[in-house]
Amino acid sequence: TLDVAWADRWARLSAERIAGAKDELTELDRQIGDGDHGENLDRGFRAVVAKLDDAGDLAQVGDLLKLVATTLMSSVGGASGPLYGTAYLRAAKVTGLETLDAHAVVALLEGALEGITARGKAVVGEKTMVDAWQPAVDAAEAAANDGGSPVDVLAAAASAADAAARATVPLVATKGRASYLGERSVGHQDPGATSTAILLAAARDAAA
Ligand code: ADP
Ligand code: MG
Ligand code: MG
Repeated sequence: TLDVAWADRWARLSAERIAGAKDELTELDRQIGDGDHGENLDRGFRAVVAKLDDAGDLAQVGDLLKLVATTLMSSVGGASGPLYGTAYLRAAKVTGLETLDAHAVVALLEGALEGITARGKAVVGEKTMVDAWQPAVDAAEAAANDGGSPVDVLAAAASAADAAARATVPLVATKGRASYLGERSVGHQDPGATSTAILLAAARDAAA
């Protein structure tokens, strides 16, 4: 069941996976940005785990996602801090329920994407994290409409995000720091799309 215990496992597994991918994310960001994406997210998710350890029992998924949101906003920095912070904040708003069904999972992911686009104004194809989130939301919707379970919906989102992150390699960046490179951003995978795929894989694996 996708309840607050799942959200807690998701956040902690995210912290583990981001810590493991820290150097890879930083290296991707060194190629087309300022080389801090891994450090930024690792700092943020370590802070999330510390907050969770202090928080005691939270009642609902939304409470937990809100804690993640405010912690990322105050500790990640860069472009990705406010973007992921807003994503988790919007996701938290659409999940008042104690247990998420497949459509609630879609709403959670849609909320996250809306937060990111409201904040960063990027559209698909600009070589940002939106390039991973949009296909993830589309795949989640399709899985829910096919009658998939909440875990099926997360699995569809995670695998779409993974493919989409790899598909950012040939794109020219037109948003964020990578856009300063213009054509020279071609041939590198976007760091934020890559971290998005990691976070959605953690959401799926926390449910399994
Ligand atoms: P900074 O670039 O400020 O150092 P990070 O390195 O933490 O921040 O994050 C960079 C990532 O943020 C990029 O790889 C990209 O995916 C994402 N990003 C940057 N600007 C935007 C935007 N306007 N909309 C969506 N995502 C963005
Ligand atoms: Mg950076
Ligand atoms: Mg930076």
